[in-house]
Order: sequence, then structure tokens, then C-alpha cells
Amino acid sequence: MLDQYAVFGHPISHSKSPRIHSLFAEQTGQQIHYVAQDVPAGAFKAAADTFFAADGKGLNCTVPLKELAWQYAGQLSVSARKSKAVNTLARLADGSILGDNTDGIGLVRDLTINHNITLANSRILILGAGGATRGILHPLLAQNPAHISIVNRTRHKADTIVHEFADLGSLNSCDYADLTSLQFDLIINATSASLSDELPPLPDALLAANGYCYDLAYANKPTAFVRWGKTQHARKSLDGLGMLVEQAAEAFALWRGIRPETGPVIDLLNREREA
Ligand code: NDP
Repeated sequence: MLDQYAVFGHPISHSKSPRIHSLFAEQTGQQIHYVAQDVPAGAFKAAADTFFAADGKGLNCTVPLKELAWQYAGQLSVSARKSKAVNTLARLADGSILGDNTDGIGLVRDLTINHNITLANSRILILGAGGATRGILHPLLAQNPAHISIVNRTRHKADTIVHEFADLGSLNSCDYADLTSLQFDLIINATSASLSDELPPLPDALLAANGYCYDLAYANKPTAFVRWGKTQHARKSLDGLGMLVEQAAEAFALWRGIRPETGPVIDLLNREREA
């Protein structure tokens, strides 16, 4: 029987993860079986228990399960411990379950390796203070940016995150109304606004000359935030497809001990959505 892997989430039918992991397996000659399974939050623990009891090797967990997966893991990577969210579970040789969060390293690799964007000493603004922001902060701060500001509609959520991560670097929170006098080299949209084609209230001149915009969300057409970045003359205005593939590659490497090449997979998925 092939080694079993799955992505759990709710909803899950839109997930590109089975396709991405089958492309990785083909490329690296690994024999794996990877499926998507619709698992609502209330069914997560039983479904994960059943999966691992049946010799399942690894799970990806997406909305709304990342915090539950964090609680489920017996051991946590540094990134997962800090973010309180897990997107990858791996069964180790001793039977224990390791929880990791590969979202942040996936974003950093897409920015720095695929798009050659320097994060050291840059001024970064993150829109949103949900699970995705928690997942990306540790790897972003490890790149030594000048500072990171977090803006959120519900201010106290941004304040809580700043309090929890302040030991890792220069971090502050603000309101959307404060943004008029500020400027950033990189603006990351970690809100879910793009999923309903909405845009948070952003002033003109927020993006520095030659700055970059990055939307964690991805769609078959440019998101509202990617379109906004273009109106602000961003050097690049990108969506999160590259991050999606990179975070998957990190999970694959954790499970299989071999890191697939992401470039060909990103190119293929980009060609498919443009077709
Ligand atoms: P959460 O539900 O945890 O958080 C959503 C955040 O968006 C909150 O801060 C919320 O503000 C804010 N928000 C929602 N709508 C608006 C709006 N109209 N205007 C301003 N702010 C808004 O979501 P996640 O953090 O899990 O996910 C965020 C995004 O990141 C999603 O689009 C998701 O698809 C994407 N993502 C992409 C990944 C990838 O691999 N490319 C990986 C992980 C996530 P408030 O607190 O005030 O409600």
C-alpha cells in the first residue's frame, strides 16, 4: 500500500493540494497517495485519530482546523509553537505526531527566492490579524526587517499578536486611520477580504517607490489587492499561489526527506489558471 497523506479542511473541494503533491511525487519519484477530505471542526479529532491509526503518514490542515491541529500535535516546531497554528502534521518513527507551520517559510521563500525581494531592513505592513498573520510572523521577523506594522479592523487582535511576538523583532500595531502618514516597502494582505473581492481601506502613497504588494489569497483572476498594488505602481503585485506551492514543498520535505523543485509546479499552475 502506498504511504497515505491527506489535506483536511472545510470547505475543501477547491483545494489545489492534492494536485500539487501529486506533481511533487511524480517529479521526485516518491510513491504516495494524497487525498482531500472534508472535515468540519467538530469532526477533526476523530478524523485525525482514524487517519493516523490506519497508518497515515501526514496531514495538511487548512481553514478552520489550524488551531485544532496545533492542539492535536504532541510536539511542535518553533514556528508552530509561536503561531499557535499548525498546517502540517507528520507521524514520526516513534509514533508521535509533530505539528509544523510551513505557511511563513513558504511566503518567505516565494518573496526572497522566487521574486528576489530583499526583506532585511525593509518596512513591512501586514493587513489583518488572523491565523495567517500568526503563521507568517516568525519567519518574516527572522529576515530582520526594519520593522513590521500590523493593521486590523479589530485593533485588539493586532495588539495581542504584537504582545506575543514582540520578543522576536520590531513590531507594532495601528489602525487603518493611522496609515495616511506612513509608507512601506512591502505590503502583505493577510486579510480574507480578497475572498469576497473586497479591499481594506488603504490610502494612496502608502507604498514606497519600487515597493511590493503581496496578497496571501489567490484566485483565477487578479485579486482586489493585487489590482490595487498595480494602481500604486508596485514593482511587483503578487498573489499567494507561489506561497501555496512553497508551503506544500516544505510539508513534502518534512514527510519524505526530499524537497521538490517548486518553480516548474508554480509555472504549470500559473499557466493552467491563465488558460
Ligand atoms: P482569518 O479568518 O483568521 O482572519 C481574517 C482577517 O481578515 C481578520 O484579521 C479580519 O479582520 C480581516 N478581514 C476580513 N475581511 C476584511 C475586510 N473586508 N476588510 C478588512 N479586514 C478584513 O483568516 P486567515 O488569517 O486564516 O486567512 C487570511 C487569508 O490568507 C485568506 O485569504 C487565506 O486564503 C489566505 N492564506 C493563504 C495561504 C497561502 O498558502 N497562499 C495560506 C494561509 C492563508 P477582523 O479581525 O477585524 O475580523
